[in-house]
Amino acid sequence: MSYRNFPMVSRVVFGRGSFSQLGDIIAPKRLNTNAPFIFLVDDVFKGNAWLTSRIPLAYDDKLYYISAEEEPKTSGIDTLVEEIILKHKEHPSGIIGIGGGSILDTAKAVAIMLTNKGESKDYQGWDLVNNPATYHIGIPTISGTGAEVSRTTILTGPERKLGINSDYTPFDQVILDPELTKDVPKDQWFYTGMDCFVHCVESLNGTYLNAFSKSYGEKAYELCKEIFLKDNLSKEEAEDKLMMASWHGGMSIAYSQVGVAHALSYGLSFLLGTKHGIGNCIVIDHLEEFYPEGVKLFKQMKEKHNITLPQGICANLSDAEFDIMIDVALSLEPLWENAIGKNWKKTITRERLKELYQKM
Ligand code: NAD
Ligand code: ZN
Repeated sequence: MSYRNFPMVSRVVFGRGSFSQLGDIIAPKRLNTNAPFIFLVDDVFKGNAWLTSRIPLAYDDKLYYISAEEEPKTSGIDTLVEEIILKHKEHPSGIIGIGGGSILDTAKAVAIMLTNKGESKDYQGWDLVNNPATYHIGIPTISGTGAEVSRTTILTGPERKLGINSDYTPFDQVILDPELTKDVPKDQWFYTGMDCFVHCVESLNGTYLNAFSKSYGEKAYELCKEIFLKDNLSKEEAEDKLMMASWHGGMSIAYSQVGVAHALSYGLSFLLGTKHGIGNCIVIDHLEEFYPEGVKLFKQMKEKHNITLPQGICANLSDAEFDIMIDVALSLEPLWENAIGKNWKKTITRERLKELYQKM
């Protein structure tokens, strides 16, 4: 047996207000005055001077506002990469993503595609990237996905929703400044925060579990319980803790895998465009048979925060549409193997998945 030798984020800053250090951090990384830093910023911050005035633009640097309305697509990545190459005299000094999981994944994918030929869809899968990515920095503005720490960038391509999983995907630098999350709307806070909770439930209840994953997963699980079920935290403490829960949840799945909720949620996302956080919430609500304790806690959290999830999103789907979602879900074999075990195909049938989807 050979164990995976996986890369981690090489540098990380943590602290409220640490975003202001960005200029000092990138200055030594500038290759020359014609080699710009490209800032990819969630367009929710357009006109928000509190944040944008601290983006250290110089020389040929360029800021692109990116919409997180839809999750990143391979076609969108390819267009953006082409624009960056055409508009600048030299290869960028670095790519800096400022936003939620959508923007962080966009930044990782752009950094990879700047140094690798062809189209981003060609790299969806495991270890298909040949060349090291352009220097890239991740600065999360909402907590939960673990995209700031993970070895993947999840993209929707023409044929599938699948990550570019590679040793070159993780950020070279991450800035964890919990203050950046202060204006996240309540519902979105819950959905993205629950992504972290679901990562823990799936990792801690999976067959791939090991002491490495368990130590991170248990910490993140405890933090989530404190944040979402107790009343003893200030807003700032809760922001700090959720940012660290996201990190630990991401670290936990780095050496294990996600499970049933993510497999089914990918199906919803591919067919209906349901976003990752809310999709996981819609799915986990119906997974008592797989994760009894986690689902019980999830329902308590949902109730405590008055979250109403959409119901009946699969009510009017045709058999062909159910088949598309089931195909996407079943194609994620490592997720099922982690959740159920090597013999998962004996119990995870198309009929069973259809019944689950019909409840959503
Ligand atoms: P998101 O990036 O989709 O953003 C959700 C919403 O929150 C958007 O409307 C955005 O504008 C808004 N927002 C973000 N920061 C804000 C702030 N500070 N104030 C106000 N509004 C803010 O949300 P997400 O849940 O973080 O990311 C989901 C994406 O992450 C999906 O594309 C999913 O596939 C991906 N993901 C990636 C990984 C990975 O390991 N790479 C893991 C899980 C999920
Ligand atoms: Zn997730």
